[in-house]
Formats: sequence, C-alpha cells, structure tokens
Amino acid sequence: MTINVRFAPSPTGSMHIGNLRTALFNKLFALKHNGNFILRVEDSDRERSSALYEKEIIDILKLTNLIPDKGLVNDRALFLNSNREELYLAKFNELLQKGFIYPCFCSESQLDEMRKNQLENGIYPHYDGRCFKLDDETFGKKIENGENCVYRFKLPERENISFTDGVFGEKEFPVESLGGDFIIRRTDGTWTYNFTVVVDDIDMNITDVVRGVDHLTNTARQIAIYEALSGKIPNFYHLPLIVNDEGKKLSKRESGGSVTELFNSGIVPEALVNYLYFLGYKPESEKEILSFDEMLELFDITRISKAPSKWDNFKLAWFNEEYFKTIPLERLGKVLELPSDELLSELRTECKKRDEFKEWYTFLKEDKVSKISENIMEKDIFELFITIFEEKCYDKNGVEILNTIKKESGLKGKTLFHNLRVFITGMEDGISLSFIFSHISKEHLKKIFDLRKKQISL
Ligand code: GLU
Repeated sequence: MTINVRFAPSPTGSMHIGNLRTALFNKLFALKHNGNFILRVEDSDRERSSALYEKEIIDILKLTNLIPDKGLVNDRALFLNSNREELYLAKFNELLQKGFIYPCFCSESQLDEMRKNQLENGIYPHYDGRCFKLDDETFGKKIENGENCVYRFKLPERENISFTDGVFGEKEFPVESLGGDFIIRRTDGTWTYNFTVVVDDIDMNITDVVRGVDHLTNTARQIAIYEALSGKIPNFYHLPLIVNDEGKKLSKRESGGSVTELFNSGIVPEALVNYLYFLGYKPESEKEILSFDEMLELFDITRISKAPSKWDNFKLAWFNEEYFKTIPLERLGKVLELPSDELLSELRTECKKRDEFKEWYTFLKEDKVSKISENIMEKDIFELFITIFEEKCYDKNGVEILNTIKKESGLKGKTLFHNLRVFITGMEDGISLSFIFSHISKEHLKKIFDLRKKQISL
C-alpha cells in the first residue's frame, strides 16, 4: 500500500511555526515510508484566505527544502478547496440522501438563547438538534419562504467516538462533549473545514494524518463523517502544542511564532528545520546538528512526545550560529544581506550573530569611523598612539602598525588592547584586534587617526 500524507495549511495568515513543523514531520514520514508528501491548501474560509499567504506557504516550503511530491505545479498549489467544489457538492448530496445532514434555520439569536439556557441549567452547551425534529409542514414553509439555512451533520447516536492516536494513544470522546450536530455548509454555500478535510482525505487516499494537537477533538467529528461516507479512516498522529514561557500556545505575534519573521531576523532555513526537529521529538542520538539525511535516518514518529514543546529562542539562536559557520558562503551572504566575498568568509571565525557580521563587515568595508564617548576616552594613551602612528607608521600596513604600537607604546595587556580597541572602533567589545588590523585598509586607519586627533584636540 502506498503511504500518502498531506500538509494542509490554511492561507489565512502568515505561516505559524507549528505549521512548518507539521510540514517537516509529514515530509520525514513520507520519505521514511517511501510515500507521497502532498500539499493541499485549505482555503475554505474564503474571506480570510488570500493568494498572498498561499504564496508565502510555497516560498517557505521551497526555502526549507520541504518540497511536496504532489500538489505543487509551477510554484502554485494544485489542490485548493476552492477548485474542488464539484467533489464537495457530490459528497454533500450523498450525505443528504443518506440522511446524515439536515438544514438548520436557527438564527444567531436563537442559538445564543439556546446556549444561555443550557449554561443556566448546568448543561454542556450544544446544538440541541431542534431543526432535525421540525415537522414536515414547518419545514416546507421555511423552504418555500426561502429562509436562510446552514446544513448540519447529525452526530451518531452512540456514547463515544474513539480512535487510537499514534502520539496520544487511545482517545475516547463522549459524543455529548462534541457540541451537538455541527455545521458543514454555511448559509453562503461555503463548506466548513471538518467536511472538506474528510472529503479531501478520502479522495486523495490519505493513509496517515500528521497535524497539530489542536485538531484532536475535530478528529472525533471527522471520524463520524468518514463512517457516513464509508471512507477508510487514516492513522492519526497529533503533534504536541508549541508553547511560550508561560506554557501558553505560542502566538504568531510572539517572537518565534511567525516563520517569515524568523527568516527576516536572519534565521537560516536549515537551522530552523534542524531546531524544529527537536520540538516534540527526541531521536536516539545525542547529536544536535543534523543534516536532513541524518534527521530522516533517526526519525520515528512513534517517539514523538505528548508533552507541549517549549519554544526556546536561545536554543534556536545557537542552532543558527552553528549554521552560520557551515552553510555555503553564497547562502550566508543571502541570509545576512551582505556580499558573499572573502571578508564575509573570514568573518565566520570571528562573528556568531547576524548583527555582529553586519557591524564588522560594514565597519571594515565602508571605512567607518565611530565616535568615542567621553567616558571611555583615555586621552594620554590616545595621544601616545597618535604620536607613534605619525612618527613611525605612516606608510605601514595594518599588521605592521599594530606591531609598532605594541612595541613602541610600552603598554601591555588590557591597557594596551582595550584602549587600542576603543581608539580604533569606538567600542569596548568586538572581534579580535588582530583580525581588525589584518583586514583594515591603510586609508581607513589614516582616517581614524586623523579624526581621533581632532576629537582629542591635539
Ligand atoms: N487547515 C488545517 C490547519 O491549518 C489543517 C488541519 C489538518 O491537517 O487537518 O490547521
């Protein structure tokens, strides 16, 4: 049997980090089983869906190299709810004929009232099925008057819906807890997620569903639809929630939540994928920096944890720094938005963070001279540097200048190096002085000495 899994994001907003992890685990699962990783864009919420977000999803999949085996053609999604209307209509009619769905004419205010009464009487709020029980005459009149209606799926008359989840184990949902017969078609004729997802999964022969744990309860509703449509129920694997420091679901607005924002902040796609691999998964290996092939080799979906996965920006930064050291220079330049040249390449031994790369690259490339704040200015020592420079270094290169100042100043250790750093860069910290002096141009140094001279009014 061919294994088919799908990644089914909704293009209703910028991609959440949880979606990318879902895509990764689906891709790994498919590869592990020689199966297909299918992209399906779930745009059933027409108002909130946009082609821009669809494009973002595809861009991210390409950037992270999580390329679908099916569902991506010329950089566009092939399977979208919006182009599968006929299929939904056919399945809707089938359910209608078999008596699994019925129109509901209840207005918002009636539903609010129902909910209020139930809560007052200590009953779990649910749709009470009153439109299912409408007598023929009332029903006929409503249809005749063209009253707006939604269509609800009739939940089965049994106590529980149960299934085995590959991560969360045996799950049993009392039908009572599912909120009553649920809407599958809205008044404007659009379909709801629980309906389209089952129709699509059956149609695409999806064998395994790997998705976020927020859909665990939906699974019970979906199983009822599978049964009604006589579809083969797939295996389910729900991935644990990604939470912030307070243990709450990490939102897109929080640091780390939005994939695009992470990329904009200089996170390397490979580093993010590597980090995400450990979010809820613990392979049988101590190694943390893993190539995609290694991740695949060590992947076993049954080892995914139920416990919420804590988002850790520091850990991600660590992964990122590791990748800064090793990704091809061309890619490093792209991520850092700097030219992929010799200087950038050599800076890898000096810099860890994106801002450091930017700072020192531009300092050395653009002959920058930063002002020194008064409180770190050691006038006497600076005067000494200037004198040595003017008397002995005028035609020398950076390294020779450093050596001459070392020798002639009579200063040592911290006094020498700290002050020289402040003098040259205007800052108290940064990359090594030997790197700076071996990469700085003569002109740049001359500019610095000239300005410092003015600054301390010599
Ligand atoms: N469109 C749903 C989501 O983005 C898909 C859930 C599923 O995989 O069934 O959450």
